[in-house]
Amino acid sequence: MRFDFALGHYLTGRESLEIVNDAHCQLSRTRVRAVIDVHSVDDIQSAITRCQREGWQLSMSGGRHSLGRQPFVTDGLVLNMSGLNRILSLDETSGMLHLQGGARWTDVRKFLGSQPERVPWEVHQKQTGADELSLGGAIAVNAHGNPLGAGPISTDIEWLKVLTAGGEELLCSRDVNADLFGLVLGGMGLFGVVTEIGLRLVPTQRFVRRSEVARTETLIEHWDALHVDYQYGDMQLDVNPASDHFMKRGILNLWQSCDAPATPASKQLQADWAQLITLAHVDKAQGFREYARFAEAVNGSVSTGRDFHWDTYAPGYHAQLERHLGLPQGGDVLTEFFVPIEALEDLLDYARNEIRRFGVDPILTSLRSVRQCQISYLRWARCDYACMVMALHVDDCPQQLARLDAFCAAIARFCGQQGGTFYLPYRQFAQHADLLDMYPNIHEFVEEKHRRDPSGLLSSDWFGSLLSFLREAPALGTR
Ligand SMILES: Cc1cc2nc3c(=O)[nH]c(=O)nc-3n(C[C@H](O)[C@H](O)[C@H](O)COP(=O)(O)OP(=O)(O)OC[C@H]3O[C@@H](n4cnc5c(N)ncnc54)[C@H](O)[C@@H]3O)c2cc1C
Repeated sequence: MRFDFALGHYLTGRESLEIVNDAHCQLSRTRVRAVIDVHSVDDIQSAITRCQREGWQLSMSGGRHSLGRQPFVTDGLVLNMSGLNRILSLDETSGMLHLQGGARWTDVRKFLGSQPERVPWEVHQKQTGADELSLGGAIAVNAHGNPLGAGPISTDIEWLKVLTAGGEELLCSRDVNADLFGLVLGGMGLFGVVTEIGLRLVPTQRFVRRSEVARTETLIEHWDALHVDYQYGDMQLDVNPASDHFMKRGILNLWQSCDAPATPASKQLQADWAQLITLAHVDKAQGFREYARFAEAVNGSVSTGRDFHWDTYAPGYHAQLERHLGLPQGGDVLTEFFVPIEALEDLLDYARNEIRRFGVDPILTSLRSVRQCQISYLRWARCDYACMVMALHVDDCPQQLARLDAFCAAIARFCGQQGGTFYLPYRQFAQHADLLDMYPNIHEFVEEKHRRDPSGLLSSDWFGSLLSFLREAPALGTR
């Protein structure tokens, strides 16, 4: 027997030593049998056959940016989809991009930028905050970005090829195998491996940026009008709990399509991301002042396209901060909540009080918008919602993580009471009743999973916890 320091216990001979983790917070250590680097559909089929033979479970990972063990299953095999990342073709007439499921946004960007002629097509939306995220991962959670008046990414997906737990590769779309299409979009990787994608791009346009300090009540008052006048937008809130303006003001960023000439590249400014993230940890007041200064400098600038999609996130930044600032090991845990716009002001009031009551440490809070999703089976965007994204700094210790989860559960419950919900790709913190309330068809989702994959071959620790959780739920006892 050997002692495993990462897991803090002895490993028996049966156990593998391979430990995997999430890329963002490093708070999802999971022991797996092996990681399989996927380069072809055959590699996935071989892994499925091996798992069927050995009675193992199989999970899949893209950029590993989800934070609740969605891509990993303890003692199972993990498909590393990063090698299945080719951009296969672009139809220059329709803007349809054909790519493999492990491709990341960085691969898409590189492909579009490397064409001999400038391609007149761009990505409509992607997640904000990081680019090393795979398209397969975005589809599995039905991700969203900061467009105004648009649903999540499922809106931009025309068709998928999916390798099911039975080893069969199926084409699905709104017209063909439509039920599978809806289950895979937002299905947390449980209904098959996305091997190929038809992603609809949008015509390239120039955008003028409006950035200024604004009150949250102004945002709420002009919410509908902003959706008419602008195509993209978000508000980065003042996250200094000591300030009178705490979560009452922010930097409102809006982008409007225009015909004006683009600002010369030499005058296009980038926020000093490293400085802002450092200040968010050590001096939030100064951080807000610096961001406001940046907003003033870029206000009125015109981009050659949707350049604002691309981020300057530095992988491993938190470990560097820990070294430079002498912080204990930890991370900035992301979480997202949604409410109808009529409830946003109440949510901000509630969150402000709960942040102070729980003593959690907000590094970033941004507001944005999403339209109802009609396609995904396990829908989080059940209505048009205002969205509150938070990154909360936490030390890697049980007390702080428990406090963080209790805070998130309280906010989620509040959102549920307002007809809102919370996002699944992060930590699992919700209470039974709240989960059933906000994901009312979750039992049917699980039943459908059992029907299509009776041996539970495709799984994850996230799904395992969900199953135990539902088994204990009072509602299940009555079914
Ligand atoms: C810094 C940061 C910023 C973020 N910003 C946003 C944001 O703005 N908007 C937003 O919506 N989300 C955001 N997220 C969450 C992110 O979109 C999800 O966690 C997403 O799933 C990450 O993609 P990934 O490639 O890292 O997937 P992973 O974390 O590797 O996997 C996530 C899920 O996708 C499944 N999966 C992976 N590949 C495939 C495949 N080929 N076929 C089928 N299923 C697959 C896995 O089984 C797992 O369930 C952010 C996360 C971080 C850490």
